Amino acid sequence: MTGQEIIERARKEKRSLLTEVEAKELLKDAGISAVDTRLATSKEEAVSISQELGFPIVLKIASADVVHKSDAGGVKLGLKTAKQVDKAYDDILKAIKKEYPQAKIQGVSVQKMARPGVEVIMGMSKDAQFGPVLMFGLGGILVEILKDVSFRIVPLVKRDAAEMIKEIKGYPLLEGYRGQEPVDVSNLEELLLKVSDFVEKTPDIKELDLNPIFAYKDGAVAVDARVVLEDVS
Ligand code: ADP
Ligand code: MG
Repeated sequence: MTGQEIIERARKEKRSLLTEVEAKELLKDAGISAVDTRLATSKEEAVSISQELGFPIVLKIASADVVHKSDAGGVKLGLKTAKQVDKAYDDILKAIKKEYPQAKIQGVSVQKMARPGVEVIMGMSKDAQFGPVLMFGLGGILVEILKDVSFRIVPLVKRDAAEMIKEIKGYPLLEGYRGQEPVDVSNLEELLLKVSDFVEKTPDIKELDLNPIFAYKDGAVAVDARVVLEDVS
């Protein structure tokens, strides 16, 4: 499916929140790298998709009613065998049914476990005055507690992307901190420009969250994605 088809299907179903699987497909269609992710609607399917994708695997709850998947026990990382996938599937559904008894569950997303990298985030929200604005920051507690993020108005030019990355306080972490490998900062700049391009060309998107993206010395990949569409009346 093309990105536009994904958006049209959600519209038809009167949904403004895309699923993680849809959001990642939309990104890939725009040339933005995301972890291969598929939806399983049964345990057997989850196991067979895992075998196709190859271990280690990650399972996550797929429900528009569960925004913070890991807080609710809805994310299982590093599954190495079919048996572990089988058990994780049950554990996720059990945890979600307990935490969110009302949640409408679509299934479970099955994806490759990405190799560890430096977690960064990119996001887009719309400002009443300036329109789409991009955000960049380091993932995890740095963004949640310290709010160490930078912003620029879309469309970004190359210099904006470079400045956005350099101006966060955690920048030294990207240059390689205490023996950690430095990440490919120019690749992150390109990624910011691609995201800028993508949101500029896709006005149907109201909010975008790539949280986290794993950044490496040779590239970057989004492991979680959330897309909210504009309301239509
Ligand atoms: P949520 O933000 O809804 O809690 P995420 O999909 O972001 O759920 O998953 C939580 C954390 O699990 C991520 O921040 C990341 O560290 C890790 N993670 C998620 N997906 C993958 C993946 N495919 N490979 C490796 N780590 C992952
Ligand atoms: Mg996340």
